Amino acid sequence: MICPHCTSDNDRVLDSRGCEDGRAIRRRRYCNHCKKRFTTYERVEQYAMQVVKKDGAREPFAREKIEHGVERACWKRAISGDQIRELAAQVEADIQSDYESEIPSTVIGRMVMQRLADLDQVAYVRFASVYREFKDVEDFVAELAPLRSQSDTAAVSDD
Ligand SMILES: [Zn+2]
Repeated sequence: MICPHCTSDNDRVLDSRGCEDGRAIRRRRYCNHCKKRFTTYERVEQYAMQVVKKDGAREPFAREKIEHGVERACWKRAISGDQIRELAAQVEADIQSDYESEIPSTVIGRMVMQRLADLDQVAYVRFASVYREFKDVEDFVAELAPLRSQSDTAAVSDD
């Protein structure tokens, strides 16, 4: 590692320890040339997964979009926020392990549906029926938003 103080490439590691909840390794280094110390961090390379939408447009993958879509489908079901986050994390892990740099949005939708089917049948049917028509999680969320607020209103007037 090139020393940031003198730019010589002659150092030794004094200390290595995990940090950022184990997502990084911090190394204290000692430059044998100028005798100064510096620190380096080692992390897993950040992947920049692109989602290819139905119209061919690409956008960066965002786990929050899956969470929002699933949240809508799970409305009034006995499913916790933790379960939803867990589902989205599992889908993201599948994407990371099976796809290099881009993934069609339709494939993400199928992955979510498979996971939802194991979790809750009603949420699965809601997600699947709307998703199959719109083929895009984002459109799905947009479409369900007014539906949800109508139901909210109905629930209030029932009380
Ligand atoms: Zn140095």
